[in-house]
Amino acid sequence: MLNVPPQAFPASGSQQRVAVGGRTKVPLKPGRSLMDWIRLTKSGKDLTGLKGRLIEVTEDELAKHNKKEDCWICIVLESCIPFPAGLVYNVTPYMEYHPGGEDELMKAAGTDGTDLFDQVHRWVNYESMLKECLVGRMAFKPIAAPKDISSTLPEEKKQLNGMLSERKVLGASARDTTPSYDWFQTDDMITVVIYTKQKGMNAELVIVDCQDKRLRGEIILDDYSYLVEVDLDYEVEDDFAVNIAEKIGKVEIILKKKDHSQWKVLGLPLEGHNTLIRRKERGLFYRKCKLVSKTEVTHDTRLFCFMLPKSTHLQVPIGQHVYLKQIIAGTEVVKPYTPLLPFLPLDFKEPFCQDGAHIYLMIKIYSCGLFTQALDHLQIGDDISVSNPEGNFEKSQVEALEDLFLLAAGTGFTPMVKLLNFALTKVDCLRTVKLIFFNKKEDDILWRNQLEQLALRDERFEVQFILSEPKEDWMDKRGKISSALLSECMKRSKKDSKVLICICGPAPFTEQGLQYLKDLGYSQEEIHAFTA
Ligand code: FAD
Ligand code: NAP
Repeated sequence: MLNVPPQAFPASGSQQRVAVGGRTKVPLKPGRSLMDWIRLTKSGKDLTGLKGRLIEVTEDELAKHNKKEDCWICIVLESCIPFPAGLVYNVTPYMEYHPGGEDELMKAAGTDGTDLFDQVHRWVNYESMLKECLVGRMAFKPIAAPKDISSTLPEEKKQLNGMLSERKVLGASARDTTPSYDWFQTDDMITVVIYTKQKGMNAELVIVDCQDKRLRGEIILDDYSYLVEVDLDYEVEDDFAVNIAEKIGKVEIILKKKDHSQWKVLGLPLEGHNTLIRRKERGLFYRKCKLVSKTEVTHDTRLFCFMLPKSTHLQVPIGQHVYLKQIIAGTEVVKPYTPLLPFLPLDFKEPFCQDGAHIYLMIKIYSCGLFTQALDHLQIGDDISVSNPEGNFEKSQVEALEDLFLLAAGTGFTPMVKLLNFALTKVDCLRTVKLIFFNKKEDDILWRNQLEQLALRDERFEVQFILSEPKEDWMDKRGKISSALLSECMKRSKKDSKVLICICGPAPFTEQGLQYLKDLGYSQEEIHAFTA
């Protein structure tokens, strides 16, 4: 499955996204493994066609060798950075052995293939792997690499348990610290250590999946994502531990070996291994989660509880959503949903902490909804694919707040739940939290009872229900979002208080709300809209 980032799809009204294609990992033909390649290079065959002669290659000459049956590429020696010098290899004999596939390799035919090799071959020393294919040296500075090699930092190579610990930065010059990793082993354990150098590292920034010998550890570093992704050398147990040294930003993933074998290498690096790239470019990763319960919230809305696999470490931060993926009528359909808590906590001493094993989603089932109808038909025990979290809300937006106003319409209430829990337990200077909750009818109101309980328990919290289609006996507010209504319902606790207004609901509701808030004089920093 190619993890197409949702941004790649045009945003339609209902945010439907159909994932396409397949991951660019090509199965090698039998007899074309790395081991087979090593055997061939040792067979004494003339792999360059130059009978051992080394030549100086000009850019023009290099460019001529751009066909499958005559393919040369230049690889820039890391040790020569910042004054890179290129070595030229005849990779035609290697084509069928390349883990990225012939087509991938052909992208660098007659040009610079350094990045391409870095991506697929970080764990091996390709200078030695391609030694028998060496044609010679570039006469001049090689043609610019497809990706900016000048941003590649000098490599620090450490021999540890027979494996090189390496780092690679792709367009990440905005970050001044680059993560790196090591690994070590005992008879029972494999420990992968990621050094992020980021202060305030925490469990929400570490996403680990380890299934079928595939280890994927993603670390979120502001707008960037650092990834360790390998096919492990041997099998490990499903469950693992994650230790985080918050102050120094060190993350340990402790895997349990299935047997006591001594590992020579951690494993074969996969596509994104040891890269630091922008989060948006990383693409979504999905794991299968089991539906463990489904409870009625209202006549059309249910609380779904999904269990994460034992082999996943994932905590969805406040205000972020995940994507669910189902095959519907033979097509992959992806929709965003916002995880919340199983209930509204009423004890404000500590933020309610989830067990880390379950994800709760409150989902409205639309009678003609493509995705929600299929979701509603899931049976307890059925699997669904759940992605890594996305979203741009920062806890720091709430810190030091005095007034917090939450404008929610329908299921737009979902991001407000974790936010309320955090604000009421962690933000000491908070004076007022007011939820202004827009619904059509009384029986559409989500968790009404719990919200009213919360208002009784905590004098800082107030809830205001506003119905657009109330029955006649509705005594409270009625109407739609408007400038007048907002100005009437949102009163600062004191003049110039530090305020944040969060808004979430149907797209037109949010757009109109944003306009009214602007008209009322709120600044951009004082407003956060939850959108996809
Ligand atoms: P579709 O087949 O797309 O539409 C069928 C019909 O359903 C439409 O004609 C319309 O009448 C109605 N409908 C569908 N989508 C909407 C909509 N968005 N607004 C109003 N009417 C609609 N939904 C939740 O229930 N809980 C969540 O936690 C949640 N989180 C979200 C987070 C984000 C970031 C975003 C962008 C959306 C979120 N949604 C959430 C909405 C969700 O992604 C789907 O749009 C929704 O479940 C409808 O999907 P569907 O395929 O069943 O409907
Ligand atoms: P709904 O029941 O259709 O509507 C809830 C309230 O919003 C009603 O009072 C409704 O009044 C009002 N409203 C709807 N459209 C409006 C508009 N154009 N202008 C002014 N008011 C409007 O809502 P829902 O079906 O639960 O839908 C919830 C929405 O929230 C979905 O679109 C979902 O995608 C979105 N959502 C977004 C996120 C996120 O993070 N981005 C998270 C969760 C949910 P009317 O009587 O006028 O319709």
